[in-house]
Amino acid sequence: MKVLFASWELDPFFKFGGLGDVARSLPFALKELGVDIRNIIPFYNALKLGRNKKTKVGKFDIKYAGKNEKVEIYQVLNPLSRVPVYLLKNKTYCDIAKSPDTFAFFDKAVVEIVKKNHLSFIPDIIHCNDHHTGLIPLLLRAMKSSVKTILTIHNLSYQGRSSIQVLEKLNISHLKSKIMNWEIESRQLNFLMEGIIHADIVSTVSPTYAKEIMTEEFGVGMEEVLRGKEGRVFGILNGIDVNLNHHLSGKALKYPFPKNNFSWEREKGQNKRFLQKKLGLRIGENIPFFSFIGRFDPRQKGIDIIHKMLRRIDVEKYEFVILGTGDQEWEERYEWLCKFYPKNVSCNFKFDDTLARQIYAASDFILIPSKFEPCGLIQMLAMSFGTLPIAHKTGGLGDSIKDNVNGFLYDDHTSEALERSVMHALDIWQNQKPRYRAMAEEALKTDFSWGKSAKEYLDLYTKLVNNTI
Ligand code: ADP
Repeated sequence: MKVLFASWELDPFFKFGGLGDVARSLPFALKELGVDIRNIIPFYNALKLGRNKKTKVGKFDIKYAGKNEKVEIYQVLNPLSRVPVYLLKNKTYCDIAKSPDTFAFFDKAVVEIVKKNHLSFIPDIIHCNDHHTGLIPLLLRAMKSSVKTILTIHNLSYQGRSSIQVLEKLNISHLKSKIMNWEIESRQLNFLMEGIIHADIVSTVSPTYAKEIMTEEFGVGMEEVLRGKEGRVFGILNGIDVNLNHHLSGKALKYPFPKNNFSWEREKGQNKRFLQKKLGLRIGENIPFFSFIGRFDPRQKGIDIIHKMLRRIDVEKYEFVILGTGDQEWEERYEWLCKFYPKNVSCNFKFDDTLARQIYAASDFILIPSKFEPCGLIQMLAMSFGTLPIAHKTGGLGDSIKDNVNGFLYDDHTSEALERSVMHALDIWQNQKPRYRAMAEEALKTDFSWGKSAKEYLDLYTKLVNNTI
């Protein structure tokens, strides 16, 4: 089985969020199952290649926006997954990731590589991810290719809307794309919708989200298109790369957690004191320590809900550590809280993998009040440090957390519901220590390894290639 895995981000070269992790871990797990899989991403200037040796393995020209453009193909081995990675270089469109041209251009280049066999590697399947690679299925169909496609939706709310002119730049008649009438009128092209329609199958990153996106509430306008694809939309829960996670955390932590050993309580205490000192918080293991890690996106991540709760409760009894970047207005609002409670609230508006691991290790609880969450990796990473998630029951959060067993789930997306859940968790932490310990150990034991999910993907690939879907 040969698979080309196309995405716009890939850890450790270029990572923005969970997709970067998945693009690293899923191919690794599939490789372990015998799949000949390779990543392909644009070669941005910002790519962090470090000391990894890149080799030029090809070059070709493609036409985009009426001009001949040179594309160079480099190959590098992902140092974390040992999976080969192809990097597509073009000065005009790939140096900086800019929607829509970078992605339209990249999609065309990927299809051209397959069509002309520039890599001596004809995949059975191109695995596309999110809107950035949403035009690949359409472009393959337009040239009547027999290569199959699967599109994985990591987050339906990012759809890659652009002007319909992109199709002209790609030299595709707009009749070939199934653009809805209103889109022809508005002269809009939706990359993700094109991907959903033209891919052979669609998957998303948790079973619950696969159902949710069929509804008006979560469908972000795509629910009808997705329903039209029913029977070809699958939900497979993401995993985490357990060994790599352990290895990287070991490097990031002054007091690493021993592998397969439940002396976690001592390590958690040591990491907590270390981080309290580092961030200028009050030092003490008996201070309840909550955290939030994630993109500062008020439409999804519930940062408004946490903020409301913090303004209501007696913050000085607790500690809250925030790590995230994004919406500036919300960063400023949180900044105020830090100024007001410098010993209790620490805000870190940056992307910092080492600090993230230190926070996972030090926290007693992690707050995940997402309005919607396709899968979420935060809760899995937190649990692997015995940190209990307190999360809104939605999407993959409900699929991966067992309420009152290895974390806490609440139903309403409100600050009151979050606060009730926080107080319940706190009561267990403060007044029912044996119960708390059993929960933390249950979290540590929960198996989020990629093996099971990779088998499900391989099963889908096999059915797809054998035309049994
Ligand atoms: P999403 O894909 O919506 O961003 P996920 O929960 O799926 O959310 O994955 C987020 C990933 O990004 C996790 O690996 C998390 O540790 C990491 N992450 C998010 N924000 C930061 C940050 N500011 N610094 C370091 N890592 C971060």
